[in-house]
Amino acid sequence: MSEKIQAPRGTQDVLAEMAAGFHVVEDAARRLLEPAGYRRIETPTFEDTALFARGVGESTDVVQKEMYSFDDGGGRSITLRPEGTAPVCRAYLEHGMHKLPQPVKLWYLSSFFRYEKPQAGRYRQFWQVGVEAIGSDDPAVDAEVIVLLDRLLGDMGARELRLRISSLGTPETRAAYREELQAHLRANADRLSDEVRSRIDLNPLRAFDSDHEGTQEVMRSAPLLVDRLTAEDRAHFDAVLALLDAADVSYELDPTLVRGLDYYTRTVFEFASDALGAQSGVGGGGRYDGLMELIGGPPTPGVGWAAGVERILLASGGVPDPEAPVDLFVAYEEPRRADAFTIVTRSRNAGRAAQMELAGRSLKGQLKQATRTGARFVAVLREDGSVLQDTETGGEVAVEGGADGVVAAVNRNLGAGL
Ligand code: AMP
Repeated sequence: MSEKIQAPRGTQDVLAEMAAGFHVVEDAARRLLEPAGYRRIETPTFEDTALFARGVGESTDVVQKEMYSFDDGGGRSITLRPEGTAPVCRAYLEHGMHKLPQPVKLWYLSSFFRYEKPQAGRYRQFWQVGVEAIGSDDPAVDAEVIVLLDRLLGDMGARELRLRISSLGTPETRAAYREELQAHLRANADRLSDEVRSRIDLNPLRAFDSDHEGTQEVMRSAPLLVDRLTAEDRAHFDAVLALLDAADVSYELDPTLVRGLDYYTRTVFEFASDALGAQSGVGGGGRYDGLMELIGGPPTPGVGWAAGVERILLASGGVPDPEAPVDLFVAYEEPRRADAFTIVTRSRNAGRAAQMELAGRSLKGQLKQATRTGARFVAVLREDGSVLQDTETGGEVAVEGGADGVVAAVNRNLGAGL
């Protein structure tokens, strides 16, 4: 025997129980988002690498270390999507969605790919449900998307949730603040971790994320971006918070909140669950008013979020996996295989959940299998005649007329019982 091939590290098969969870999340998202005016979008699994390099930002961990990028054979560098916002913005531009009434509100549920260190709740292929509302900078849009994520997580029964929120201001504010922060880091360079010190130029904000003790100490006296916001950005942020208050969504202000992607401006937020371990982030997002220009479009504001489907399920302690009810199981003796096949096909065409024996079991084995499926009716086709059994009442009738007769008897009795 040759060596067994296994799924790549950090990936997992979505088996029946998890697939049931995925369906519950998808249904909950659809029921919540469609009536709120969000339409489904699915973008391709891979994109031009430049979309992420420019959109997500060259200095981010995602672009520097986590992308699955490769040459597609035609001399193009393509990348398995590591996130959903840049692709949705590309689609908005490509399909002229600026001509639609703004904001254009979209949602997706798709798989994403990041070359990260696999651990509990962190995979190299994972699923996210997300929304993007593009074309308006009204603070009510920020508040709307946050309230919707709060509702979705609540509907899914996610436990011990905390919402942290902050504002990053405009790129200009950030640039000035960045210099101020870099000066603070350089002045205290000897107390920083090697990693933070080596990234002062590239990404000083990430220093807030460090779990290195010396670095944390230095960061306690670091200047905060929220204290440097312009009057407009402050007003925008205050308006978002007032709307969250009005919607009864509680939050913690966290001036050190740093999101891993570069494109955020103004509002950023993150839901975490204390019911999860180290990977406690359930979903997050923010406003990205500068992203569209980075990928070659006109200035267009936008705001959105993405939540990890696996993390939602972990945070809600799993969802029940009820097996689909079976209306009819057809057991048969060998010469009546074609009849069994006809009955099952016609029952399925009529919308019934029907199964038949497929593994060559003895009639006795077939009846056991019928019990395992929990079928309400069992048709038993013998060479010398057919019967239909009602497993709920224990009733049994003889059925005349071959396959037609059995289908007619099922139609007559399903719902009423024997
Ligand atoms: P991000 O796009 O990094 O803001 O992530 C949004 C959400 O997606 C996170 O809060 C997680 O729930 C989920 N997520 C991100 N990366 C992973 C991963 N590698 N494995 C599983 N879930 C992830």
